[in-house]
Amino acid sequence: MDEVFKLQSKVPDRAMVIMAHPDDPEFFCGGTIATWCAAGAEVTYLILTNGNKGSDDPQMTPEKLAAIRRKEQQAAADVLGVKRVIYLNEPDGELQSTLELRQRVVAEIRRYKPYTVIAPDPTRYFYATYINHADHRAAGVVAIDAIFPAARNRMYHPELMGEGLEPHPVKEVWLVGAEFPDLWVDVTELFETKLEAIRCHVSQVSHNEGWVERVQQRHQATDEYGRQVLREGFRVMILR
Ligand SMILES: [Zn+2]
Repeated sequence: MDEVFKLQSKVPDRAMVIMAHPDDPEFFCGGTIATWCAAGAEVTYLILTNGNKGSDDPQMTPEKLAAIRRKEQQAAADVLGVKRVIYLNEPDGELQSTLELRQRVVAEIRRYKPYTVIAPDPTRYFYATYINHADHRAAGVVAIDAIFPAARNRMYHPELMGEGLEPHPVKEVWLVGAEFPDLWVDVTELFETKLEAIRCHVSQVSHNEGWVERVQQRHQATDEYGRQVLREGFRVMILR
C-alpha cells in the first residue's frame, strides 16, 4: 500500500474550490475542505455547471434537476463549513474553456482573493476503470488559465478593473484527480463529515449502491507508522 506523506502545508486563510459539477468538491476533497474550514479558513466554491444531466430517471427534467442539485450542493457545503457557493450555471456536459468563462472565473478569483485554489487536474483523461468526465478536464483548464496569468495581470480582462476587481495572485494550486499526487492529506478524523456531505447529494447517491465502500477503498492507505488512515491526494503547485 502507498505511504501517506504528510507534507507541511499551512491551512490557507482563504481558499477557492473550482469544480465542474455539484458534488465534485465533496467526492474529490471533502475531507480536506472540512479540515480547512474547521481550522478557520474562508472557503468559497465556484461550481461551473448546473449538473442538469446527472440523472437516468425518465421522469426527471433538466430544469428540475438543476434546482435539486443546487439545493443539494448548498446543503453539502453547509455540512463542511463552506462560507459561500457561487454557481456559474453552464450547461452540464458542455463545459468549454472559453475566454468568456475564463473572465467570469477571473472575476470571482479577484473578488474573493484565495491564497489557494483547488481544481481538477486537466491532464487526466482516464482512470483504471473509468473515463474522466470532459467537464472535469475543462474545469481544470479554465481554472489554471484564470489563475495564471489572467487573475494576476491587470492587462487581462480590463473590463474587470472597471468593476473594481483588482489583480490577485493565487499562491498555491492543488489539483485533484492527479495520476501522481505529491501531497496527501490525512482526513481520517473528518471522514464521516465528508460522507455526510456526500449524502446531501441525494439525487446522485440514493440509487448508487455500495458507494460508501467504494469511496472508503479509494481513500485507504497505511501511514509511515503502519496505521490505517483515510487520505486525499493532490498534485500541488507553489507559484512564485
Ligand atoms: Zn463531476
